[in-house]
Parts: sequence; structure tokens; C-alpha cells
Amino acid sequence: MGDGLLKVYETLLGFYGEQNWWPVDEEYHLRHGSDPREEIVVGAILTQNTAWKNVERALENLKREKLLSFEGILKISLEELQELIRPAGYYRQKSQRLKVVARELSPVSKLESVSREELLRIKGIGRETADAVLLYAGNRPYFVIDAYTKRIVERVFRREGSYEELRRWFEDNLPKDIKLYKEFHALLDEHAKHFCRKKPVCEGCPLIQVCTQPLR
Ligand code: SF4
Repeated sequence: MGDGLLKVYETLLGFYGEQNWWPVDEEYHLRHGSDPREEIVVGAILTQNTAWKNVERALENLKREKLLSFEGILKISLEELQELIRPAGYYRQKSQRLKVVARELSPVSKLESVSREELLRIKGIGRETADAVLLYAGNRPYFVIDAYTKRIVERVFRREGSYEELRRWFEDNLPKDIKLYKEFHALLDEHAKHFCRKKPVCEGCPLIQVCTQPLR
């Protein structure tokens, strides 16, 4: 099974190329003396229940005001923060979450040692957000499972399971390689948008040879 998972990874990588996810504006952080890991944490909260293009608009607003950092988020009022992140939706809830997370994870070096359990105890951080923060901001080997991942795994491998079961299945069947984890998650998302949509477009799908449920 591990071979099958690696084969899927290699096929997707060959087809779509490296995704280099998570995107951060390194230049912005160099100019303003902030830490790019903070942008990843902020993005991980903002992307809950919304498309990435909406997150980008909210991040742009924060950058325009030079507030894309934990310090920036903590120093403005809740109302100001709500206005800036409004494009990402659920802005009342997300502004509160951002304040809590920015406080709890300051200084950002905490990402190097915070445990998954500690992250999950922070209000507004669920499993998917915790693992995205640990993997992409903390460079730690936790595989991120999302709805796209679940859908593809169910179709390609006929495998269903809880979040934790699927996460462990990925981690047990892949080399403990952080770059691979980062790329693979991003590739699965890419694939779910292009071919393995809600209604799959199987014709031309790069996984058609290994998939257990292609629509012929
Ligand atoms: S063959 Fe169809 S169902 Fe299988 S992975 Fe490709 S798009 Fe999804």
C-alpha cells in the first residue's frame, strides 16, 4: 500500500510539477522585519471554510496596513481586524481566533516546540488547521487531511476513515519527509480541483491507471 501511495505522489508530481505550498511573501517580511511563519499561521486560520482566493484578498489588506504579523494583529482593535479580513468570510469568528492564536503562539519560535495537543486546545484550531500549522509553519512531520484528500483516497484506494485514521495511514506509508508531505498535500488539492472534482473528470486523469473507481 505504501508503494501505491508513493506512486500516486510521484504521478501527481510529474503531472502538475512542484506546488511549493505554502505561499508566503518573503519580500514583505524582509522589508518589515516580520516572520513568514506568522503569515502561514494567519493564512491557516483565514482559509477555514473559504477558498484561497478570498484569503489572498484578506492577506493583501493586512499587508497594505503593514499588519501581517502576530504583533500587528494583536495591536489593532477587533473591529479593525474584522474589516481587514472581511473578504475571507466568517470575519467575526476568524478575527477572534486570530487574536487568540497570535497571543498563544507568540513568540513564533513556539512553533518549534508546541505539541499538537497544545495546539488543539487553542480555541479555533481544529485538526486540519493544527496539522497545517505544524507542517507548513513549524516544519514538522504531520500530514494534513482535508476534504479533497478524503475524496481522492476514497476513490483511488477505496479507503475511508476518520481524520486521525487517514493521517496515520499517510504517515505510516510515506517516508518521514517534510518536503514530500508539503508537496503531496498541495498536489492532492490541485488534483481535486482539476480532475477529481465532486463530479470527477476521469478522462485524461493522471491517476486513472491506479484508481479503483474511475468513471469510464
Ligand atoms: S480516475 Fe477519476 S475518480 Fe479516479 S482519481 Fe482520477 S478523477 Fe478521481
